[in-house]
Order: sequence, then C-alpha cells, then structure tokens
Amino acid sequence: MIIYKTAEEIEIMREAAQIVSRTLGIIAAEIGPGATPNKLDAIAEEYILSQNAVPGFKGLYGCPSTLLISVNEQVVHGLPTDKPLKDGDIVSVDCGSVYNGYYGDHAYTFQIGEVSDEKKRLLKVTYECLMLGIAEAKLGNRIGDISFAIQNHAEKHGYGVVRDLVGHGLGKTLHEDPQVPNYGRRGRGKKIQDGLTIAIEPMINMGTEKVIQLDDNWTIVTEDGLPSAHFEHDIAVINGKPEILSTFDYVEDALKNKG
Ligand code: MG
Ligand code: MG
Repeated sequence: MIIYKTAEEIEIMREAAQIVSRTLGIIAAEIGPGATPNKLDAIAEEYILSQNAVPGFKGLYGCPSTLLISVNEQVVHGLPTDKPLKDGDIVSVDCGSVYNGYYGDHAYTFQIGEVSDEKKRLLKVTYECLMLGIAEAKLGNRIGDISFAIQNHAEKHGYGVVRDLVGHGLGKTLHEDPQVPNYGRRGRGKKIQDGLTIAIEPMINMGTEKVIQLDDNWTIVTEDGLPSAHFEHDIAVINGKPEILSTFDYVEDALKNKG
C-alpha cells in the first residue's frame, strides 16, 4: 500500500533529504586518493548526529555503518573498510538519515583522481538516467514511465540495467511501496499522484546487468567485474510535478572548490 504524504510530512522529508545532501557535500571535500571508507563513514555519522538526526542505515537490517561505499565493480551496499581509495576508482556513496521520524536516502558516485573516459561516460549516462526518470514522476504517468525512461537511456548506450535492486517509496520507513524498478514498460504500474514520495536510484553497469552478492552478505558486485554507477535522489510529487527534495549542490560546490 502506498502511503501518500501531506505537505507537512514532505517538508520534514525535505529536511531529512537535505541533511543527507549536506553530508555528501562534506564527503565530497574529503574523498580522494588515499581516503579510507571507514574515515568517511565516521565523518558522516558525526555530521548527521550534529543535525538532530540519526544515520538512516546503521542498525537497519543489521547494517553496521552510516554510509554504504561501493567501489568500481561494487554496485551498491559496499561496507566501509580501511582500504584506501585509489586514483581511477569510481565510488558510490549512499547515505541515509532519519529526521523527526522520516527518512532521507540519497547517493552520488564520485571520481577518485583521474578516471578513465569509459568510466566518466558511465557516470554521465547514469546521472542522465536519474534525471530522465525524475522528469517522468508526474501526474498522468505511472511508475513504469519512470522505469522505461531509465532503462531506455541506459540501454541506448549499451549498458546493463540492474534488475535485482530497485528504487522505492520513502517515508517513515526506508523502503515503502511502491517499488521503482530501473527497467519497465511505459504506462504500467501504479499511477503517480500528489503526495507520492519515492527514491529513484538507477544502478547502471558498464557490462552485464547481472549482479551477485559477496560472502559478507551485503556487497553487491557485477557478475563480470566491470564497473557500475549509482545516483539517487528523493522525490515528492507536488501539484502534479516532481520536486527533488535532495540536492547535489553541496557535492558540486565542494568538487569545484577542490579544483
Ligand atoms: Mg540509497
Ligand atoms: Mg534507496
């Protein structure tokens, strides 16, 4: 059952999303060759707690960390380690918060040092998939229109669209109805209407769409070992149109300032 949100609830969710956005901005300033995921995780947790919020993932489903940090062929759900990031990596940083009982959940894939043109293209197309999907989250459409837009753009570029993990409704719980797959058909699925709050999160692989889970029971990796990218925003449908509750502005400002 989809739980549609009131305007007041959406404003709380906007703050939850913005806390994550600011956290990712801080991570953007810190991340680079030599940075360790565990250090980034500690920085994120400290910041979220300073914002009258709590980390959204830590403790949920047994998750041990504030951030999920997925490097190269890791698609999502990578657990932070002490292994330093290195030049040429691409790194998805996924972060959740709970603020006044509501979740924020969003993610950005960072480039570490000098990244190959192939990887840059994967990141660009995955980001475009996210924005094309968001544009479809409007009155008169169905969830399948979001899914189709993402799949169509990714496959046009020859990329694999992950099937096993999907976007989702968001609210007082991290994963609510409806599921928001990154593949699907136009005009299918639930109708989009005001008060719908969802996390849209394309996970796009350079090669095969197939993924496997590592023995840690968390980390999802591509079956062929080729890199994967992941961008996520939190969306509310307001007055028939998608509004992005999260933002990459803090990330982009931080990356600009690093030069
Ligand atoms: Mg997420
Ligand atoms: Mg999510």
